[in-house]
Amino acid sequence: MNTYDSLLATVSAQSGETREVFDPATGELIAEAPVNDVATLEAAIDKAEATQPSWAALSDEERIAYLHKAADAIEAAAEPLAELLSREQGKPLNGPNARFEVGGCVAWTRAAADTPLPVEVIVDDESGYAEMHYRPLGVVGAISPWNWPMMISIWQIAPSLRMGNTVVIKPAETTTLSVLALVAVMNEVLPEGVLNIVPGPGSTVGDALTRSPKISKIMFTGSTPVGKRIIEASAPNVTRLTLELGGNDAGIVLPDVDPAAIAEDLFWGAFINTGQTCAALKRLYVHDSVYDAVVSELAKVAAAVPMGVGLEEQNVLGPLQNRPQFDIVDRLVESAKASGARVVLGGDPDREAAGNFYPTTLVADIDPQQDLVLEEQFGPALPIIRYTDVDEAVRLANALEVGLGASVWSADRDAARKVAARLEAGTVWINSHGGLHPMIPFGGAKQSGYGREFGVMGLKSVAEPQVISG
Ligand code: NAP
Ligand code: MG
Repeated sequence: MNTYDSLLATVSAQSGETREVFDPATGELIAEAPVNDVATLEAAIDKAEATQPSWAALSDEERIAYLHKAADAIEAAAEPLAELLSREQGKPLNGPNARFEVGGCVAWTRAAADTPLPVEVIVDDESGYAEMHYRPLGVVGAISPWNWPMMISIWQIAPSLRMGNTVVIKPAETTTLSVLALVAVMNEVLPEGVLNIVPGPGSTVGDALTRSPKISKIMFTGSTPVGKRIIEASAPNVTRLTLELGGNDAGIVLPDVDPAAIAEDLFWGAFINTGQTCAALKRLYVHDSVYDAVVSELAKVAAAVPMGVGLEEQNVLGPLQNRPQFDIVDRLVESAKASGARVVLGGDPDREAAGNFYPTTLVADIDPQQDLVLEEQFGPALPIIRYTDVDEAVRLANALEVGLGASVWSADRDAARKVAARLEAGTVWINSHGGLHPMIPFGGAKQSGYGREFGVMGLKSVAEPQVISG
C-alpha cells in the first residue's frame, strides 16, 4: 500500500544530479528530485521502441484491461498522490484541486480505455470499397506543464497507450515528483517499458525528445513560444504533433444576465487552480448596463473564498506554483494600477513572505489595451473590461493571436449561441467557463495550438490512419 512517505521515497533522487523541491506555500524543502540527462533519455526511448511491438501486438481488449488496472492503481493511491501533488504544486487538497485532479486522472484513463474505435467503412458501393483503420504510431513523446501536472500527463499517456503506442514522458521540472509518482503507481501494473519517464530540463532533455527520429508523435502542453520551438525541432523528422498551447480566454457578459446568479460560475471560471489553468477566464468583458452589479457580485463571491496552505482542508485557493509566475502576475497588476485601473479586491501581495501567495485580485475599469488584458496572467488576477456594443466586445475578444477557450453569459441561450459562433476559440462555453469532459474534444484555435485531445478525436490523433481499399 502506498503512503505519502513511501511514494516520496520512491520518487526522490537516490543519486546523480538532483534539484531541491520546495513547497510553494511555505518555502519548506520537500525532497530532492532527480535530474536526468540526454543519455538517460536516449536509453528510455530505446526501451520504449523495443517494447512497442509487443504492446501493439496485444489485443485492444488486453490494452483496455491494462488501462483499467492502471486506473484502479491510481484510485487506490489517490490520497497520497493528492498529498504529494498539493505539496509540490501548491494546489489545495480540497475544492477543484488536488483530489479533483487525481480523480480526473482515473476518469480520463477509464474514458480512454472505454471509448470505442471500430474500423470505419468509408465507401461500400459500386464505386469501390474502403475501410479506415487506426494503427499505432510507435513511440509517443509527451511533454507536460506544471499547472495540472498529473491530469495533463494522463491526457497524453492514456490515449497513446490505448492505441498501441509506448510512451516517454518528460514532466515539467517544477512538478517532477508529482508525475514521477503517478507513473510509478501506473507502472505497478503496466508491463515493463511501456510507460517511461525522464525528468530533466526542457532545454536539454525536452529538446532532445522533440528532435529524436525514434519519436513518432509529440504530445505537448505548455507555452506558445516553446510550442513554436518544438515545431522547428521536430520538422526534420516530420514528427506528428498535438500542441496545446497558451490561452488568454475572453468571457463576454451580455446585458440580460442576473449578476448574482452568474457570479459564482464566473469566479471559478477565472480562479480555478488559482488562475493557473490554460482554459481559465482571463479577461472579462461586461456590458455597461450590468457592469457595476457584476463587479460587486463577483467581489462578494471572491472575498469569501479561502486561500492558504493546500494541506489545510478549508482552503480552496493556493499559492502560485513558482516565483517567476508570481512575478508575472505582480508585474501585470502593478502596471494596471499605474494606468489608473481600479483594484476592487486584492492587488496587495506580501512579497517578503516565504510562500508564493498572490491574493485574489479583481481589476475593474481597465483599458482594454492594458497588458493585464492582452497578456496571459496565469494567476489569480482578473481584469474586467466595460463595453457598450457587443460587436466591439467580439472584436476585442478575437483581436489576440491565441484562441483556446471563450465564454458567453446570457439569460437567452439562443442569443448567446449567436455570439459564441463569432468567437475564434477551440471551445466556447455558455454560462460557464473551462469545464472539460473526457468525451468532448479539447484544443486551441490560432496560436493556442493544433490537434484535439479527448474522445474519439483524441484516440485518432495518436494513431496513423490507414485506408485498406479493395
Ligand atoms: P512551458 O515553459 O512551455 O513548459 C512546458 C513544458 O515544456 C515543460 O515540461 C518544459 O520543461 C518543457 N520545455 C521547455 N523548453 C523546452 C524545449 N525547448 N523543448 C522541449 N520542451 C521544453 O510552459 P509552462 O510554463 O510549464 O506552462 C504554462 C503554459 O502552458 C501557459 O501558457 C499555459 O496556457 C499553457 N498550458 C496550456 C494548456 C492547454 O491545454 N492548451 C494546458 C496547460 C497549460 P521545463 O519544466 O524544464 O521548463
Ligand atoms: Mg517553463
